[in-house]
Amino acid sequence: MTVPDDFLHRFRLERAGVHGALVRLDEAWRHIHGNGEYDAPLAELLGQTVAASALFTSAIKFDGRLSIQLRDSGALRLLFAECTSDGQVRGIGRRDDEQAKARVSLEPGAHLAITIENSATDTRYQGLVPVEHGDLASAFEGYFRRSEQLPTRLVLAATGQRCAGLMLQQVAAAGGVHAGDADGWNRAEHLLATLRPDELLELPPEDLLYRLFHEEDIRLQAARPLAFGCTCSRERVADMLRSLGHEENESVLAEQGSAQITCEFCNRRYVFDGADVAALFVDEPPATAMPTRH
Ligand SMILES: [Zn+2]
Repeated sequence: MTVPDDFLHRFRLERAGVHGALVRLDEAWRHIHGNGEYDAPLAELLGQTVAASALFTSAIKFDGRLSIQLRDSGALRLLFAECTSDGQVRGIGRRDDEQAKARVSLEPGAHLAITIENSATDTRYQGLVPVEHGDLASAFEGYFRRSEQLPTRLVLAATGQRCAGLMLQQVAAAGGVHAGDADGWNRAEHLLATLRPDELLELPPEDLLYRLFHEEDIRLQAARPLAFGCTCSRERVADMLRSLGHEENESVLAEQGSAQITCEFCNRRYVFDGADVAALFVDEPPATAMPTRH
């Protein structure tokens, strides 16, 4: 039996009082990577963001999704990754056409927006994180420090072939006392600092955790599979077309014969012909009002 290479593992270091999550994306990442034109720096940023979005869903206990979007970062026009609670990931990165030759990087002043949507209650929560030190991992650590008041450590890695992430967080216990022994968090943090990117990307999960934490009494939970998946649908595209208004749609129809929308995440194509467009606005009064008599 082959071990799936797209997974999320949760684990606990009992002695240290630390819980963690390990994510690796292989086929799913190659699918995302293959959908765009990514040079190495942009692929690295996007892969790390996709891995982080999957890592953060490990703590979500409801049906929904979590997305990460980078804003205001120089030549980078768009960087977005999303993971659903049932393990579907998607992502996209786009550079500014005007700055095609500029190297994309995390600029000072850039922000990350982390959005969590609960589909059962139809509620959204959004947090904004500044990218202060030029790397994603430390920006996310700052986010958890502020939002959950728990020490958090994160390592992210990505190549064109794979992306991966490992996160540690101190377990909160009653009365503000941490769950493990006094030196537990310190130890776990120092051990994590010895992890090399190639180990994070390549080692089987059991071997990786054993190599780092073999003295810490590791409890590894069963892997949760991850896969590429897009949440686009004909209904969503219909909503988008409706929001453009009847007139705008009519002018597209007059020019092109049909409205054609291609999803940038999965390349699925949606075609709305004249009858489809008319059906979108069936509840609306006709666009041109009847002339009134004076
Ligand atoms: Zn799609």
